[in-house]
Amino acid sequence: MENNFDIGIIGGGPAGYTTALHSKEEGFSAVLFEMDELGGTCLNKGCIPTKAILHSAQMYKEMKNSTNLGINAENVTVDFQKVMERKNEIVLKLRKMLELSIKNSGTTVIKLHAEIIDNNKIRDNEGNIYNCKKIIIAVGAKPREIKGLEFDHKQILSSDDVLNLEKLPKSITIIGSGAIGIEWARIFSNFGVETTIVEMAEHLLPIADIEVSKRLERIFKGEKVKFYLNNCVEKVEKSENNVKLTLKTGEEINSECVLVGVGREINNFENHNATVLGDASRGIQLAHFASKQALEEIKGIHFDKTLVPSVVYGTPEIAWVGVREQDLEPDTYKKSMLLISSLGKAQCDNATEGFIKILSQNDRIVGAHIVSNEASALIMEILIAMQNNISIEKLKEICFPHPTYSEGIFDSLFKL
Ligand SMILES: Cc1cc2nc3c(=O)[nH]c(=O)nc-3n(C[C@H](O)[C@H](O)[C@H](O)COP(=O)(O)OP(=O)(O)OC[C@H]3O[C@@H](n4cnc5c(N)ncnc54)[C@H](O)[C@@H]3O)c2cc1C
Repeated sequence: MENNFDIGIIGGGPAGYTTALHSKEEGFSAVLFEMDELGGTCLNKGCIPTKAILHSAQMYKEMKNSTNLGINAENVTVDFQKVMERKNEIVLKLRKMLELSIKNSGTTVIKLHAEIIDNNKIRDNEGNIYNCKKIIIAVGAKPREIKGLEFDHKQILSSDDVLNLEKLPKSITIIGSGAIGIEWARIFSNFGVETTIVEMAEHLLPIADIEVSKRLERIFKGEKVKFYLNNCVEKVEKSENNVKLTLKTGEEINSECVLVGVGREINNFENHNATVLGDASRGIQLAHFASKQALEEIKGIHFDKTLVPSVVYGTPEIAWVGVREQDLEPDTYKKSMLLISSLGKAQCDNATEGFIKILSQNDRIVGAHIVSNEASALIMEILIAMQNNISIEKLKEICFPHPTYSEGIFDSLFKL
């Protein structure tokens, strides 16, 4: 085999495979190393499988509460094995499509562990050497453990372990309320699992705008999801089918298992001056950030790293971009706050929970924070305006369709 390549890419997640998919069209030969499955965390253990399970959980909850829509669904039950089978099928289907695209891109794929041995050489774990003019490290990250709550994969679970559950637990405690913790809290509580969250910060989802966090807390209260803020676990006692956690403040929580979702630590790697992309680059740990970094690297398409949207899935979706209100100096900005319940479409959809909050300075949007059905799509309308420096006055000229959630953005413009 010819072992000389222009680019050697280690890691087949969004950062690595996006680089691979676009190498040939830029005139570069590429070799991609993946020790597990192509698609990386995103496709196999992250974005996709969680959203597939979440969809089942949301459907279950919606069907159980459908009488006010005029639909009487009786004896709605969960076949969790089927839920997981469907999730596996989706992952497999998408992985096959990705494998085909990578093959068609002309990339050589080596399904082995790889390491860099000098600035231009990669060695796989069978001892083969690959000479590469440029090396890209895209090795991603793994679930972070915390002292006293080390993963035992049965009662103390990582975000990888929960994807392999064979049955739903009766109760679960989730440590950490970042996007991963919140999405799993929504999955479990929608399925009727008694769910408790322990968060060190003052509010749930501490990376979000303060009003988003507070709204989420209100929603969770309504859904009987328990949460402890400003708190952490001091003592862990495991027995059969129970984990007893004693918190710093003395409260005790008993649950069948614990999910530790306190962030992800990057996979160790010997660098040798290589370019690092994706989660391993210690930047924003999101799939779209990883693939944009890859496009920047391989095709020179630059992007504004301060305008990376975040989405937390579930009902209602949560999405934001730009600055948070708590980070702005008082009296330097304007703010609009529109309740989703004011929109006709939201009323029709029985999805009235949430708001659209927009922050502006000098006739330009500087931040948007949305809790609503379709928030993941709505945030893009705002992001396009921000990215292109479109003034609020100019945005008012756009004709928004009716009835939609987008109208909420249009209505907000007149309050800025
Ligand atoms: C539960 C969960 C839900 C998530 N949901 C979302 C979401 O909704 N939206 C979003 O944007 N992001 C989400 N993320 C984050 C997203 O998955 C990551 O940001 C993204 O996968 C990072 O891509 P990457 O290419 O940097 O690394 P990864 O996707 O982690 O890929 C790295 C790959 O490198 C391989 N590798 C590592 N070392 C070697 C080696 N030495 N040799 C060969 N191969 C190696 C690994 O096997 C892995 O396949 C989620 C993450 C989790 C855990």
